[in-house]
Amino acid sequence: MAQVTRRTFLAGAASIAGAAMLGCGPDKRTSPGQAGALDIEVALHGDPTMQPTATATATPATPTPRARGAEVRLLLAETPHETPLVIHHSGVQGPAAMVLGGVHGNEPGGWMAGDEVAKWEPAAGTLLVVPRANVTALNAFVRTFEEIGDLNRLYPGNRDSPLMMERMAHAILEAAREFDANLLLDMHESWAFYAEYPPNSGTGALGQTITTGVGPRQAEFGQLLTGKVNPHVTQREQMIVRDGTRFSRPGATPAPSQANRGRSSLSAGGHVAGLTPVLVEMGQTDQPLERRIELHLLTARAALEIVGVL
Ligand SMILES: [Zn+2]
Repeated sequence: MAQVTRRTFLAGAASIAGAAMLGCGPDKRTSPGQAGALDIEVALHGDPTMQPTATATATPATPTPRARGAEVRLLLAETPHETPLVIHHSGVQGPAAMVLGGVHGNEPGGWMAGDEVAKWEPAAGTLLVVPRANVTALNAFVRTFEEIGDLNRLYPGNRDSPLMMERMAHAILEAAREFDANLLLDMHESWAFYAEYPPNSGTGALGQTITTGVGPRQAEFGQLLTGKVNPHVTQREQMIVRDGTRFSRPGATPAPSQANRGRSSLSAGGHVAGLTPVLVEMGQTDQPLERRIELHLLTARAALEIVGVL
């Protein structure tokens, strides 16, 4: 069956390759690693049983759940930035939730966890996963490229933008709207741990934080999530809740701040009705890649349980 074949490819894509000490903080460049060795899109194209549709197209909302099964769409199809959106329908009435990995290409814990989440099957509703959102950056093991823009500074996106990651932001929110997603979970890494540096030290250390943007569940989601995760991790791994309100600009036409921080994924709740954005950062310093992936998966599972998809 197509689903089994697709799973095989995604499992292969999850193989752990390079690790790096880069993250969401200050741009500390290093040499590219070997991560992303398997080209997931080529794998999908090479599978004769898969017929991914080219782009997200709006379909009328239906009152009955879609039949159980998976589909793969290609975002920014037929460009160098083409990347899969994996959609699992449970066949059971329920909410939709969306998970992003690989928004920044030098944060392998996020996209390797994304590869795993893309294999999960929801118990109810629909699970949408973009495991490798910025695939060209990921293949080069850099945060992003200036000429395509920083996806996490370009929401709500623009279908016709010269910046390809601004087009990607648009495609991601289009899918979130189409399926009426109520959670956008964005998995990142930071070079160091938030708790180990003063909050205003200017280091950009955000490791082990959960930041909630403006949305219907903003006030409660961080506490619910840490309540499920923290009992199962070490003292150093404890996740800390941050209020992302100042990074959110609810409303249809947010004015970009000087650093465009008001245009991160935390602003998505202002553009998709009913959606609460949650951004998770794992620290890279003295925390092995394998553990960062585990912690992302633990957190993602808990978040999806909270919204009722798992
Ligand atoms: Zn990041």
